[in-house]
Amino acid sequence: MNRFIENVTPGIAELTPYVPGKPISELERELGISHSVKLASNENPLGASPKVAEAIGRSVAELARYPDGGGHDLRFALGVKHDVDPARITLGNGSNDVLDMIARVFLAPGSESLFSQYAFAVYPISSQAAGAKLVVAPADDYGHDLDAMRLRITGATRVIWIANPNNPTGTWLEADELKAFLAAVPENVIVVVDEAYSEYVTQEAYPDVSRWLEDFPNLVVTRTFSKAYGLAALRVGYGISHPDVAELLNRVRQPFNVNSFAQAGALAALEDQAFIQSSVEANLAGLTQLIEGFEALGLGYIPSVGNFITVELDCSGVEIDQALLREGCIARPVANYGMPNHLRVTVGLPEENRRFLDALKKVLGR
Ligand SMILES: *Cc1c(COP(=O)(O)O)cnc(C)c1O
Repeated sequence: MNRFIENVTPGIAELTPYVPGKPISELERELGISHSVKLASNENPLGASPKVAEAIGRSVAELARYPDGGGHDLRFALGVKHDVDPARITLGNGSNDVLDMIARVFLAPGSESLFSQYAFAVYPISSQAAGAKLVVAPADDYGHDLDAMRLRITGATRVIWIANPNNPTGTWLEADELKAFLAAVPENVIVVVDEAYSEYVTQEAYPDVSRWLEDFPNLVVTRTFSKAYGLAALRVGYGISHPDVAELLNRVRQPFNVNSFAQAGALAALEDQAFIQSSVEANLAGLTQLIEGFEALGLGYIPSVGNFITVELDCSGVEIDQALLREGCIARPVANYGMPNHLRVTVGLPEENRRFLDALKKVLGR
């Protein structure tokens, strides 16, 4: 064994890396197939607004220049969108980058990081890398149980992570319960509300937590351009917080973490809200199509408000996933979330959903 292995910091020595959805090119290379469908990473099947590619094309002229490290134009546009001072906005190389900055600023050996069972995998990874102790509150029917979370707050708790809606379960929290929870959290504890899928949620009681920042200085909201905006390849997300939190995050932020194309593309994407509207409508229709398909196959599922849904199988999700891959369908097993008999599938185009349901029927032998 290489001698440096013994010098790896304790949190990282125990860490297992994030497993992303399999790229289409990799599957097709491995199996020698073509025309496969990827419904594994909650990407927008409609792509992105055409305005984005135009904006990126224009910014190619500046290829040799460093990006605007302060992200001025995008931060100001986001400030207008959320009606907040741009000093509250922190740009990230994807919102995962912002989540990681939060962990690096507020977590260390001896501190505790609190999140729900089945919560998004990046919370434990970033927390553990920072050396914090992971505290997992049991879920309530796959959703976050805020009472169970509150009971696990101790004097060592530094960050609480809440995904609303959560990935991979698609479960969500209503405004009243979430606000009551925030009011009960000590002010020295950072609460992250990860709204990666917020654009897709049409429920009346779903909150836009960025409106509560004046009431809760310890609140950080994260958003992303990777999901409804369809810009996963660009890697751009952001946090909205108290300016003092933003100033702390800026201390660890890499100077040019969001590249020029991402900044220009995100800015253009913000201006095309009609694209978001049509994405949301297509998603609702696709969710219905998948649910009807699951019901026809006699399968249970976790009701979801995101652009994905987790179906319950009566056998190993990893095995079914392998069989689906041979049919050219890439979905996402969630055994690593402690859900060995579930499979998460992203809402695709109608014909992609059909392909997935037909393949599922075939591999399940129904
Ligand atoms: C996809 C996702 C993110 C964001 O990913 P980025 O591409 O890094 O912005 C954040 N949180 C959750 C819950 C997600 O599912």
